[in-house]
Amino acid sequence: MRIILLLLIAALAASAQSLRIYAIDTEGGKATLYVSPSGESMLIDTGYAGFANRDADRIVKAANEAGVKRINHLVMTHFHADHIGGVPQLLAKLPVDHIYDHGEAVENGAVMAAYLGARKNLPYTVLRAGDSVPVKGLQVDVVSADGKAIKKAMKGGGQANPLCASYKAMEQDKGENAHSLALIITFGKLRISDLGDLFWNQEYDLACPTNLLGTVDLYMTTHHGTKTSGPSQIVHALHPRVALMNNGATKGGSVEAWSTLRQAPGLTDIWQLHYSNVGGKDHNAPEQFIANPAEACTGEWLEVTGLIDGTVTMKNHRNGFSKTYKR
Ligand SMILES: [Zn+2]
Repeated sequence: MRIILLLLIAALAASAQSLRIYAIDTEGGKATLYVSPSGESMLIDTGYAGFANRDADRIVKAANEAGVKRINHLVMTHFHADHIGGVPQLLAKLPVDHIYDHGEAVENGAVMAAYLGARKNLPYTVLRAGDSVPVKGLQVDVVSADGKAIKKAMKGGGQANPLCASYKAMEQDKGENAHSLALIITFGKLRISDLGDLFWNQEYDLACPTNLLGTVDLYMTTHHGTKTSGPSQIVHALHPRVALMNNGATKGGSVEAWSTLRQAPGLTDIWQLHYSNVGGKDHNAPEQFIANPAEACTGEWLEVTGLIDGTVTMKNHRNGFSKTYKR
């Protein structure tokens, strides 16, 4: 009895000191749930609307397993259907305390109108580069918003970046991706980059001529691993040990993204939400690293446990396969 009690106390103490992340599959959209050691929750994006509440239901399922009863901070990176679409459906299922986004939309339509209708009922804050999301127990820094990057290097950043010399700009994106929120999440020594769907040229501003961000332990691939994001100038400068790609079967997961990642110094593994059809056998990660390897998708998620010393443990919710990446 006493041993069981001690084990229980030890387990509770460990979970109280760890950051848990649930990367939820929304078939090529984004919905990432962060549970701070304080118990506060932050959801970054909500996947799509429609599909009989598919994405909202998947978020609720992961939240239930995480012990999350309400979303304290709902952060919308930008106003595309695969990110804001699910907001009205989610609000019908899970209470949300506060919503954040980058302000004025540069693309409008029915999805945006539905989002604005939902947003007006919630306490709301516009985020700008240099702001932070006040999640108790975590440091969540906004490093790019509405197309503008931070001007000064973060703590741990500021290094000259020799990779910048080989950079080639793309034709500027005129849509929402260039305006996406980009975040660095810090928990003790642990650092995670989640740059939303930020466009190639705006990512360059964060990494060149000096690397304003420093290095990270975990890299959430920008824009689902699409080839118009993730230049090597930033991905290699971030020097992650592990990457998580929020791709769908037919969305993101580009050969270019894998090539950049596989050449990244210090990167051990790439975990994926989906098998990517364009990647085929040559590029996809081994099956145990993929949450949803089959086209008939059951909406499995990937779990991350982060410790204050920078240790990251990745776990595939489908098969229980897990691996720990120490500093
Ligand atoms: Zn997207």
